[in-house]
Amino acid sequence: MDEIFEGGCFCGGVRYRMHGRPMFIHCCHCTDCQRQTGGAFAINALVEADRVELTQGEPVAVAMKTDSGFPHDIYRCSECQTALWSDYGRRKWMLFIRVSTLEKRAEFMPDVHIFTRSKLPWVQLPENANAFEVYYSTKEMWPATSLERREAARIRAGASR
Ligand SMILES: [Zn+2]
Ligand SMILES: [Zn+2]
Repeated sequence: MDEIFEGGCFCGGVRYRMHGRPMFIHCCHCTDCQRQTGGAFAINALVEADRVELTQGEPVAVAMKTDSGFPHDIYRCSECQTALWSDYGRRKWMLFIRVSTLEKRAEFMPDVHIFTRSKLPWVQLPENANAFEVYYSTKEMWPATSLERREAARIRAGASR
């Protein structure tokens, strides 16, 4: 049985469960994340969409423009507008859960820090942190089990990417 992690929005209108631990965790210091969150960075847990179970409410997708040209949908509570997760590239089969919406957020340390070129200067990363000026190679950085999970989820969804 997978561990279950509970999460939800600020007002409590949306509640969800994440089944099992994420495949990989990003701490993103890009300027888009900074502006969209109003914070120094966003912490995103990458997880298969079918491991996220809504138990209350239904978040609504808000489309964001990106430099890559791929759509980026942020799913928010329709009442309090808390961002619960993102679907980068509108893949539908992989979600980027905003870690701070999980009750046990402290359990999920970032595996990588990305876009550190725009990291705020007063944010100090841990000495052994995996930090990347921009992005990183999934094949090189993800554990083998996570790569397998990712590929299995893509195939289950019948997706090409
Ligand atoms: Zn809410
Ligand atoms: Zn970002």
